[in-house]
Amino acid sequence: MNHQITTLFTETQVLERVAALAAEMAPRLEPEPIVLGLLKGALVFTADMLRALSRQGVKPLLDCMALASYGKGTISSGSIQVRMDNTLDLAGRQVLLLDDILDSGNTMSFAVQRLRDKGAAHILTCVLLDKPSRRQVSFAADFVGFTIPDTFVVGYGIDYAEHHRELPQVAACVPLGKGIS
Ligand code: 5GP
Ligand code: MG
Repeated sequence: MNHQITTLFTETQVLERVAALAAEMAPRLEPEPIVLGLLKGALVFTADMLRALSRQGVKPLLDCMALASYGKGTISSGSIQVRMDNTLDLAGRQVLLLDDILDSGNTMSFAVQRLRDKGAAHILTCVLLDKPSRRQVSFAADFVGFTIPDTFVVGYGIDYAEHHRELPQVAACVPLGKGIS
């Protein structure tokens, strides 16, 4: 299927925003927080944020978790499954939870509860992209990169059917109907 890829935020814009977020977050972070990224979508964001935090003098530990949301099509069901659990002991630690996109809110709500259950002492949340118009459960991230409308996005680690993760920019991905090239 053909898709139209339209840049929303260039590589430079994204990296500048990541650096600004790190500067905003640094005063609220302990010297050695655990940065926990949700795979696979937040992999690139997490890698860049880790280094942006280092430039702010923060010495984070890195952890990851892979969650899957089951629903029909693009509608989130709210039923989240842990595909790959994190490995560090979170008990008593400050955890900075990162995801690529905050959409219905189900994924981040589930993840925060899971980190609490694992004993995390302080949890801060940060998403690169926020689509507030899509929310199904009340959730506000502590830090947001960009607020966007209800658009399907790809690039910077974010996929369409596993494609386009390698794009350095964040782009809108609009399917072209049959007969349109
Ligand atoms: P939520 O649980 O908030 O509905 O969904 C968050 C997850 O949905 C994100 O981690 C991301 O994987 C996925 N998601 C939401 N919007 C988009 C989008 O526009 N493009 C892609 N590829 N994934 C999205
Ligand atoms: Mg995701």
